[in-house]
Amino acid sequence: MDLYEYQGKELFKRFGIPVSEGRLALSPAEARGAATDLGGPVVVKAQVLTGGRGKAGGIKLAASPDEAEARAREILGLDIRGHVVRKLWVERASEIAKEYYLSLAFDRSEKKPLFMLTTEGGVEIEQVAAEKPDALVRLHVDPLEGFQPYMARRLIYGAAIDDPEEQKQIAEIVGRLYRAFVECDAMLCEINPLIVTPEGGVRALDSKFTVDDNALYKHPDIAEMRDIDAADPQEAIAREKGVTYVKLDGEIGVLGNGAGLVMSTLDVTALAGGRPANFCDLGGGGGAQGVVDALEVITSDPHVKALLFNVFGGITRCDEVARGILAALDQMKIGLPVVVRLDGTNAEEGRRLLAEAAPPNLHVEPTMLDAARRAVELAR
Ligand code: GDP
Ligand code: MN
Repeated sequence: MDLYEYQGKELFKRFGIPVSEGRLALSPAEARGAATDLGGPVVVKAQVLTGGRGKAGGIKLAASPDEAEARAREILGLDIRGHVVRKLWVERASEIAKEYYLSLAFDRSEKKPLFMLTTEGGVEIEQVAAEKPDALVRLHVDPLEGFQPYMARRLIYGAAIDDPEEQKQIAEIVGRLYRAFVECDAMLCEINPLIVTPEGGVRALDSKFTVDDNALYKHPDIAEMRDIDAADPQEAIAREKGVTYVKLDGEIGVLGNGAGLVMSTLDVTALAGGRPANFCDLGGGGGAQGVVDALEVITSDPHVKALLFNVFGGITRCDEVARGILAALDQMKIGLPVVVRLDGTNAEEGRRLLAEAAPPNLHVEPTMLDAARRAVELAR
């Protein structure tokens, strides 16, 4: 789960990483209020779950509450790479002498957290890695050894940061970032830029914070930060109902049992000339409630023109899935064409049940490819 800048900064603050004081604002009037509250010049920052806001016009300085209100009016509603701005973070403006970059990310290939530090901050890190690879210091932390102060020193000397006051502050921030990362079960904590003010103070001017979804149950306070409005409506319903669902942008609603089979069904749908509207894994649950829940999620997407069930009975029995499909169609009054392919355990019995009930919009096909072709045809 990705957090907004202001949420990441709240966590930074909790772990003692210095940030600027700020307020959340949802309207130009609130931005004015926030600026009045904070006093002096502020920076008005679009809160969207994507980077490069500065370049896209989503970050503006304001010298007065009047200006903050005007800048807020410009930024709210702005579309930044497909993300519409609905929230602003108004914080006390900083004077910047230097912009550094510090991050800690989970490196899957090494199975270890990886620190990266460079004095070439403020720009995208990929650019630094490509153009000035020597300026980027990388250091893995062995999770069994944990963070040790020498690691911070190695990073700081490696990046050629030689001011003793900066060294001291950054060493503290590095250690605190490691604690924040581990204690929040983060996958990424990035500070870009980590600034040095003209007075020599170091603080985080931005935050990119990603928490492992699988650990959210341990962190109800972080789980609560999820922005329901920003999430895709279908994915929000799916999460609520516990349906394994990923939205895609086609018109064929796909359901199957087992992630591998569903992935193949997406491919076969594409092969048949259609575009899948989603990934949905019924898992072991072929029972009526599981099918109803999945269909409710899938059919709430107005782009869906046909439904394609691809079920291979292993432990799940096809007759049970067939009953589930019939019960769901009965309960939900689905008008869309429904194509079903059943194979494996009790497939014959399943097909017999479907043929007997024979709702007018139900089509049974013998193979996966036939089923995909039929669904694509019926979606036209
Ligand atoms: P991003 O573009 O989404 O990464 O957003 P950032 O929060 O990193 O801001 C982008 C840039 O705006 C920074 O690199 C700074 O140069 C500038 N900026 C942000 N906040 C301030 C501030 O308080 N004062 C000044 N002078 N510049 C700022
Ligand atoms: Mn940034």
